[in-house]
Amino acid sequence: MNMIDTIGNTPTVNMDGMFLKLEYMNPSGSHKDRIALSMIKDAEKKGLKKGSCVVEYTSGNTGIAVTWIARSLGYRPIIILPENVTPQKERIIKLLGGKVIRIPSDIDGYQYAESIARECHGIYLAQTKNPANFRAHYETTAPELLTQVPKLNIFVMGVGTGGTFYGIAKYLKEKEERIKCVMVIPRNSMLQEEIFGKKEEDEEILEGFSYHSISTIIKKILDENLADDVMVAGKREAIEGMKLLASRGIPGGPTAGAQYYFANKLKKENAVATLVPDLFYKYPKIMEELSH
Ligand code: PMP
Repeated sequence: MNMIDTIGNTPTVNMDGMFLKLEYMNPSGSHKDRIALSMIKDAEKKGLKKGSCVVEYTSGNTGIAVTWIARSLGYRPIIILPENVTPQKERIIKLLGGKVIRIPSDIDGYQYAESIARECHGIYLAQTKNPANFRAHYETTAPELLTQVPKLNIFVMGVGTGGTFYGIAKYLKEKEERIKCVMVIPRNSMLQEEIFGKKEEDEEILEGFSYHSISTIIKKILDENLADDVMVAGKREAIEGMKLLASRGIPGGPTAGAQYYFANKLKKENAVATLVPDLFYKYPKIMEELSH
């Protein structure tokens, strides 16, 4: 077995009828290993040459995943990071052998990534619109989950690119129409404005969720009506959920906290599942607040 073979097949734990799929058990610590592998394999099929550069614009976890997988498969990773991403994530990417370019928030990261890929004759993976993103979850995460929780009736997931929600919700609804899929969106985001007509202020951006744009994949979720319900999460819900998760022995990150917070409310008689995408060690600021 090599490292790539350890991606996926993550365990799902049952906590009194609440099912948590522990995606942080992927080799680089998040569900993004699945999509990084899927997008790079797809690019290989389309002719990506060994030694080429592989560029991605990301808030962190995808950068970590793309870096180690690209390196393992013989490519040169270049990761474009927005300003707000924690220095911890940047250090991890550099340590894994990725080149990091930080850009200010007023620069269009997608266009910037495209221009870097053009310059180095490589490829820009573009996770926000690449079908190989949601395909990874449709083909791997979703069937694993349904096998692990055959009686599942509610699935809860937040959206960054929307790839995880789209891939899993699409599969679940095709297999079992009765399963409800609940989308968690961030407070103070463009998506909140799009769905509810206005957005509310929030204290802080939760890394991992989508704030300033509505990705091509999220548009597909809305167009195909895959979300049966929408919950709005901010820092307050994330922290409360993180505390609850930690009290059960799982130090999940802020998005895991936000998802758990709502999943917990929906539990009652239902078999509710959500993912724990990553752990809180990468988020020092929120860790500090949790310890108060
Ligand atoms: N949680 C974390 C920690 C993430 O990094 C991301 C992706 N940015 C998500 C949730 C959302 O996943 P997706 O991009 O598939 O919507």
